[in-house]
Amino acid sequence: MTANHGTRARYVRGKCRCDACRAANTAYQRDRARKYWGVRRALTRGDDLDFLRRQLKARDAVLAASDLPRGEVRGRRDEIARFLELIDDADAYREQLLRVAS
Ligand SMILES: [Zn+2]
Repeated sequence: MTANHGTRARYVRGKCRCDACRAANTAYQRDRARKYWGVRRALTRGDDLDFLRRQLKARDAVLAASDLPRGEVRGRRDEIARFLELIDDADAYREQLLRVAS
């Protein structure tokens, strides 16, 4: 069965180069490029996440060894723990994204 004009199937399998089929193919490629760059951006953010994670853990170690009032140290370390959880969530989301995209 031959696909309708204005579809990528007709462009690829039917080798049709009418305006409608070329437009469908262009739209497909544009969409694919957008998804590709979306994944690239997510990966870059992933690098940023690792950097942030290291910074937060270093800060946490400094706080743990500091002689600031106990309550203040706990408050700041709790905040760091919440940020680290957020980063883990973002990482898990990135893994999902990469599985779907591959
Ligand atoms: Zn066509």
